[in-house]
Amino acid sequence: MNRLRYTAGVILSLLALPALAWGPQGHRVAGAITEARLSPAATAAVRGILGDEPLAVASTWADRKRSDPVPFWQRQAGAWHYVNVPPGAARYDPRRAPAGGDAYTALAQFHRELADPATLPARRALALRFALHIIQDLHQPLHVGGRDDRGGNGFAVTVNGRRSNLHRLWDSGLLASARKSDGRLQARLEARYAAELDDAWREADPAVWIAESLALSRQSYPATQRIDPGYFERFRPAAERRVAQAGARGAAWLNALYREASEAPVTPASPAGWWQRLKDFLEEIRQRLV
Ligand SMILES: [Zn+2]
Repeated sequence: MNRLRYTAGVILSLLALPALAWGPQGHRVAGAITEARLSPAATAAVRGILGDEPLAVASTWADRKRSDPVPFWQRQAGAWHYVNVPPGAARYDPRRAPAGGDAYTALAQFHRELADPATLPARRALALRFALHIIQDLHQPLHVGGRDDRGGNGFAVTVNGRRSNLHRLWDSGLLASARKSDGRLQARLEARYAAELDDAWREADPAVWIAESLALSRQSYPATQRIDPGYFERFRPAAERRVAQAGARGAAWLNALYREASEAPVTPASPAGWWQRLKDFLEEIRQRLV
């Protein structure tokens, strides 16, 4: 039975793969850009929760957990990577979120949990890693679905004769086409957007990020299904810009959170490594029982 459930979980997670959001590189680079911009209060709080785990690593955790067969990850948390906007609607409306939540409502919940001194350490670590990931996903334009095609997963494209879909192209294809290591991509974005990263992109309101993504996602549908070099020329800079913005907004969101929470008791430092993994494991058992 357990084996069957595990196999079902693996199959489910494979089915979920096309919706992984920014590929790992987009998440890692955004996380590193965030890390470099945390206030002293936010740095202390984040290090108290994650130990020495870099934000570049923490950023991809929620996608790595999608292959976890635990029902919480397979059923509930899968919908927290995106928001939907009905075709023709001018903007996202959180009142239309499904009962189990979406990226916007989950992020608001994680904000409350991180600000609440009573939140248990394992749940606090989950909230921080998942919140960071959601902030980044909401900057991937196709994670704000404005059509009935599962965020472009249902929009087939061909790239150099190979079949793909628009969502996957935005997750990883556009970024990968630059053939840059994480470090080089980060350095390039830090240089190109030096002024914006520390000034104009301090917007911490998710509704603003979602509106930007919706506008970009609606522009991103090509006239034909064949993706030509002109599409890469036009949209690769846009995808890279969204990664940089995700990094800046991650810092803005965390800095605002820990400014608000500065009167609350300081989170006790928790050792990383096996102890953290044991606590994560216990937290998952708890969620399985709920
Ligand atoms: Zn995701």
